[in-house]
Amino acid sequence: MKLARFTIHGSTRIGRVDGPRMTDLTQVLGDRTMRDVIADLDRLRAPIMACDGPFHALDAVRLEIPVPDPQKFLAIGMNYARHAEEARAAGIAIPETQMWFNKQVSCLNAPFDPVVKPDASDKMDYEIELGVVIGRRCRHVRREEARGVIAGYLIVNDVSARDWLPKSPTFTLGKSFDTHGPAGPWITTDDEIADPLDLRMQLSVNGELRQDARTNDMIYDIYDQIAYLSTVMTLQPGDILATGTPSGIGAPTGRFLVPGDRMELEIEGLGRIACEVAAETAAASARAAVPAA
Ligand code: MN
Repeated sequence: MKLARFTIHGSTRIGRVDGPRMTDLTQVLGDRTMRDVIADLDRLRAPIMACDGPFHALDAVRLEIPVPDPQKFLAIGMNYARHAEEARAAGIAIPETQMWFNKQVSCLNAPFDPVVKPDASDKMDYEIELGVVIGRRCRHVRREEARGVIAGYLIVNDVSARDWLPKSPTFTLGKSFDTHGPAGPWITTDDEIADPLDLRMQLSVNGELRQDARTNDMIYDIYDQIAYLSTVMTLQPGDILATGTPSGIGAPTGRFLVPGDRMELEIEGLGRIACEVAAETAAASARAAVPAA
């Protein structure tokens, strides 16, 4: 099952994606949020699958952030073996444990919306990642139980302002510029994915393949990650984990993103997202600085 948030005629709804069709689930779900749906998925699964309309052509709707308001948006660094090698070659020390940081939830971005290159950064980079969406409130999850707390998966682009990462030891600033968390295109539920530990992932910039790997190159797999994180904190339905990026980022070769660049990201079974890089013009900044009424 593929669950999306979409907008049509100015109204944002939750839908089920079947090939080229988006079925509007409003009659089944009422005013539930995606977090509500995820938290109650065991009970809602049958009525969602039975819903047969109304529907729209997928290419006629605007896809939104699948979970716009997760309680947490956490990401792990240096979690692919070959990526760790490229970081080591660049003089970055490899952590000896799982290395987690926050992406602020305010950086989440719709799957086909522009990513803004901040005027304050000249080292904006991409990172394709398997995103895990937590489905159950849980704490102290054992590795063997971890798959059972996963609702589903989506693609995350962990966009990074490399020149801001050293400005705070937690990475938070360099990982949290507005629009730097594209996610989507929708949530593919866990039952549709045979093995999340072996999915091909590819990212291209302007048609040139830059990252091409499989999730089996992770150092700590997603079950290790859930066990480790839940040692510390309660995970909640809708929480998003960005589970690391493979080799091929722009930083080692100094090929950073510039306005006009187009990123395309695809993960086997999860679909694709695409993000064009936009300039943060002085005019746009001035508008953004005006307080909302
Ligand atoms: Mn990352």
